[in-house]
Amino acid sequence: MPVSHLKAGSAAGRRKASGTGPARLIAEELRAQNERFSAAVENMSHGLCMFDADERMIICNRNYLDIFCLDAKVVKPGIRFFDILQHSVDIQIASQSAEELYAIRKPYIDGARPSTYEETLSDGRVIVISHRPLAVGGWVSIYEDETAQRRAEVELKEQHRLFDAALANMSQGLLMYSSEGRLIVRNQRFLDLCNGKASDFALGMTHRQMLETLVRLGIFVPIDIDAEVAKTKATLEAGQSRSSHRELIDGRTLFVSRQPLAGGGWVATFEDVTERRRTEERMTHLAHHDTLTNLPNRSMFRERLDQALTGPRVAPMAIFSVDLDRFKAVNDTFGHPAGDWLLKCVAERLQLCLRSENDVVARFGGDEFAIAQFDIKCTADAEKLAKRIVEVVGKPYRDKGREMHVGVSLGIALYPGDGADADTLLTNADLALYRGKSEGRNVYRFFEPDMDATARERRALEADLDVALSKREFELDFQPILDIASGEVVGAEALMRWRSPARGLVSPENFIPVAEETGLIVQLGDWALRKACSAAAGWPRDIRIAVNVSAAQVKSGGFARSVISALAHSGLPAARLELEITETVMMDESDTVLKTLSQLRGLGVRIALDDFGTGYSSLGYLRRFPVDKIKIDRSFIHDLDRRDTAAIVRTVIGLGVELGITVTAEGVETEAQLDMLRKAGCGEAQGYLIGMPAKAADVTRLLHSQALLRQSA
Ligand code: C2E
Ligand code: MG
Ligand code: MG
Repeated sequence: MPVSHLKAGSAAGRRKASGTGPARLIAEELRAQNERFSAAVENMSHGLCMFDADERMIICNRNYLDIFCLDAKVVKPGIRFFDILQHSVDIQIASQSAEELYAIRKPYIDGARPSTYEETLSDGRVIVISHRPLAVGGWVSIYEDETAQRRAEVELKEQHRLFDAALANMSQGLLMYSSEGRLIVRNQRFLDLCNGKASDFALGMTHRQMLETLVRLGIFVPIDIDAEVAKTKATLEAGQSRSSHRELIDGRTLFVSRQPLAGGGWVATFEDVTERRRTEERMTHLAHHDTLTNLPNRSMFRERLDQALTGPRVAPMAIFSVDLDRFKAVNDTFGHPAGDWLLKCVAERLQLCLRSENDVVARFGGDEFAIAQFDIKCTADAEKLAKRIVEVVGKPYRDKGREMHVGVSLGIALYPGDGADADTLLTNADLALYRGKSEGRNVYRFFEPDMDATARERRALEADLDVALSKREFELDFQPILDIASGEVVGAEALMRWRSPARGLVSPENFIPVAEETGLIVQLGDWALRKACSAAAGWPRDIRIAVNVSAAQVKSGGFARSVISALAHSGLPAARLELEITETVMMDESDTVLKTLSQLRGLGVRIALDDFGTGYSSLGYLRRFPVDKIKIDRSFIHDLDRRDTAAIVRTVIGLGVELGITVTAEGVETEAQLDMLRKAGCGEAQGYLIGMPAKAADVTRLLHSQALLRQSA
């Protein structure tokens, strides 16, 4: 209790003063004053210490002792200032020696003016000391521990430094507005982004002034400033952030994001997203365009169509499905670069044919294009465009001295008559196109409802056919082939039958083309091959089996393997198997088909050219691949009573003899026909006259009885 050392406040002092009269009153007053003084000193938030002229302590408070961690038992009134310093050195709170400390204090002690200085203690605390000389000599010192405050200041400074560094190094421009809506922070990056000067964007300006400046200086593309200010105000007041893209006059794009601040005001950041935007635009363009022709692609076309079809009043329109004729021939003859060049030319010509800016030409892939002709008055508008396209696209294409020709076929569906949505319209335009193509090329066809019915029927057939193999709905019939000279059956042709539970017996002429298109023919043909070989394996040793083979099978790869496997499983010698191919197999330019056929022929398998005479260049194909047999198509035999036909048949037979190729006449129905063929020297005959296609068991029986007859003869 250092304060109690005040003489006037001590017990002895009180006793002395307790007299009577004015002296007593004075003493009382003095005592009260002393108590008030002690209480005041003790309750001060600062440390306090008073020294007399002899540099001895008169009084100090608890805070003083606490600040310097001094021992109250040592630091008592009367102690010399130097001894206090020494004590603080002893308890290791002072960071210097007592002499050094004293030397620092001495000028203040001796000075007549109040002064303030500070001292750093060994534990790092900073004590600010206010020194007041007393008139009677001695002094009063007030001590204040400023450590926390100093630390806060340092931290604040550091924060400012970091904030400045962050602002300066941000890749984004930044503006900060106060709660009064005034600009309080603006970084260098913002100025760089705007190519602006600091003086143009003075601190204190409002959001509106900022926008006005940006527009006035020709940085921002003009905007509705009122609306902009109102929008920002509303969203920020609702505590929400707001972002938008700003177009700059120089073509760049800034992404601006505004965030409300907790204590009012907001921060806006600016990012240059020009490159990102351009990349995005390029990506969207790529996603919506065909890279070769730069025309819109299917997805873009669909989008445009969907857009056009939504709305309260949709005007009539025409959708064209466009397909080039003979494009494959250009690719095959002149190569793919020429094909690509031609497609680009076609794209240009199609665009030139359009009469309205709104109409769209798209490339769907390959040689497929589509056109949307909007706002048509009548069907004739679409017809006019179709005619123009057929004429313009059909003109020759000349490049590097070469001349290329393609035609174009068009299918047209009209809105609203032929469909209400994009899918239906496109499908119906396709149906019309297929119909057009099947009827001859270089034409346009409008959609008709029966096309849809045909297509539906076709899809149903495809679906049924797809499961028919696993349901074992296929059978093979066998039709005998006669050696005309000997009058003996020397072979049989396997003919496929589909016994559909829903459709009854379906003719191969109806389902084989479908199986060829869907690709099912590969499996189906494989099945027929195995089945035919195993049936023939049980026949007399000199009887051959003929199996029809589609182009798709031979092209599919693995065909030779499939033939070899059928032979191996049945045990049938290769020489007894005859593969009937048509011209379409030979038409394939690629080497693989001819290689496969040669390979099989090398094994002893015979190759027969079926339906001879019905194609365009049957004779030509005889030169490309050496076949073992030609089968004159039954249409020739049917017309054998006509002189010209008879002449052709005789010539073909003569050609066969000359080349050493067996000639078989198909569809022989009458004795007269057989007679005529015999006279012409035809080798073999097949037809209802010789035998109808029959079940395996019947044919086997027939063949065995023939063999028996021969043996007994
Ligand atoms: P194709 O290979 O020319 O078969 C001969 C066709 O003529 C058979 O028709 C046969 O029944 C028929 N025919 C035979 N003799 C006469 C006759 O005297 N008069 C008349 N008018 N026709 C006769 P089918 O069985 O309807 O087969 C038609 C076509 O289907 C075959 O023609 C062949 O190209 C194809 N085909 C049949 N089976 C298969 C097969 O397993 N695979 C492949 N890829 N095609 C097959
Ligand atoms: Mg045949
Ligand atoms: Mg035939």
